[in-house]
Amino acid sequence: AGLPRRLGHIVDAPARAQPDHPALIAGDTVWTYGELAAITAEAAAALRQLGVRPGDRLMVVSENGLALAALVLASSALDAWVVVGNPRLSAREIDLIRDHSGARRVLYAVDVSEPARQHAARHGAAITTLGRLGTLGIGPLNAAAVPEPVEADGARQAAALLYTSGTTGNPKGVMLTHRNILFNAAVTQVTRAPTPADQIYGVLPMSHIVGFSIILASSLMAGSTVHLVPRYDPAAFVAAVAAGTVTMLFGVPATYQRLLEHKSVAGLKALPRGRLRMLFVAGAPLDPALKRQVEAALGLPLLNGYGITECAPGISGVRPDAPRQDESVGPIIPGIEVRLVGRDGSPVAPGAVGELHVRGPNVMRGYYRAPEATAAAIDAEGWFNTGDLARLEGDALFIAGRTKELIIRSGFNVYPAEVEAVLNAHPGVVQSAVVGRARDGNEEVVAFVQLLPGACVTVSELMAHASGQLAAYKRPAEIIVLEALPAGATGKILKHRLAEAAQEEAARRGTRK
Ligand code: ATP
Repeated sequence: AGLPRRLGHIVDAPARAQPDHPALIAGDTVWTYGELAAITAEAAAALRQLGVRPGDRLMVVSENGLALAALVLASSALDAWVVVGNPRLSAREIDLIRDHSGARRVLYAVDVSEPARQHAARHGAAITTLGRLGTLGIGPLNAAAVPEPVEADGARQAAALLYTSGTTGNPKGVMLTHRNILFNAAVTQVTRAPTPADQIYGVLPMSHIVGFSIILASSLMAGSTVHLVPRYDPAAFVAAVAAGTVTMLFGVPATYQRLLEHKSVAGLKALPRGRLRMLFVAGAPLDPALKRQVEAALGLPLLNGYGITECAPGISGVRPDAPRQDESVGPIIPGIEVRLVGRDGSPVAPGAVGELHVRGPNVMRGYYRAPEATAAAIDAEGWFNTGDLARLEGDALFIAGRTKELIIRSGFNVYPAEVEAVLNAHPGVVQSAVVGRARDGNEEVVAFVQLLPGACVTVSELMAHASGQLAAYKRPAEIIVLEALPAGATGKILKHRLAEAAQEEAARRGTRK
């Protein structure tokens, strides 16, 4: 009750209550809530002039910036679906998303982003200044784009089409409805309780669900201030904290990893805390060693949340006021249902690991133009299969890993995260990724590790370290050292690539024999 029915109206209440309060800050420019509401209306008029109609897809290729935020709100006020393209994707990847989404227009935010400028040039976009939105690249009209039917009800009407980063294969277009996003934003008002005095450092890209939903939508609903940061620079973050202009940081594990690297390069004992009061991490498994180091460096708990694009994204999250529970991703978010299912499809015993299914107002409408994938993910009763393995201890959820990444070695389950945690605890290791490799009708454990620059560690030392702490069936059959692990746009390790690399490595050795 009391929720706006469309995402585009999320700023209406704060614009009335606190029109002069800063909503968005990018570089030296501040937009108050009053300005944001007015500029959103201007943006909607501009989009109409560009031929964007209700039910159309509007693609915006942009790093975090003011125009992107206004266009997200404006397209939803128009009942168009916004598709946010990360400009750091390759031209081919951007084209795939444009074509798959059937976007009527593609806009490029050339003010903030050099890669977006390059994409705009490649696509023959006209560079135009659109009032307070600033300078944008405007791609040609796709006259063949077919609008989707507009649903009167925000529970069915898609607000955003977000393409997952594809750590497990091909990107899929996740249709998130107004209700999905507004539910997630509303529930975080209870679980995290941001206030208008909060200033959120918005470093995760809005092309990713955490940037879109948690940073943008949930902060604006609270009337907080969001710093739109196009490119994460840990030194700039530390300076902003020291200046007292940041109270909350949301990151993926890689955000914090880079912060610690900055600290060691800058030779700092601790990081300045300023008005910083909450640190959140989500989106990928959090290495326990990383969590401890971040907490020691900043003197604040690192609150882990678990979610998935298809759930807009929140499923669980450690509450700021909760007692410490190191490796848990917290209690399930109120208002959604979960169940844990065994391999035979029946519920698992209390405390056992099962595949996590979710049902509730956060579950996506489906994958765009992929009815079979949608039917495979959401059953007739509305249960969405996350593809993650998890267990509940009391009300605390623990993630064991992805079903697809589970390694079954001689009938025993090997959870990659457990092996990775052991390897990561070695002082010479920056990060690791463990995958399975088929061999003689069985599966073996293969570890990829990235070493600290200058660390003198041999593979046999790492093997001995792992053997000392892991049962024989969990030990890596092979450890491969890489300069860097392949990562997607948000720093998540691309395990399908490593699984292929492990297979190729075996084949290469096979032919050499
Ligand atoms: P794809 O499905 O194509 O691989 P993706 O990995 O980018 O894309 P996201 O929606 O960004 O998709 O990621 C969701 C997944 O990330 C979850 O299913 C889960 O495996 C993992 N994940 C998210 N948060 C956490 C967390 N706090 N701890 C452990 N794993 C997490």
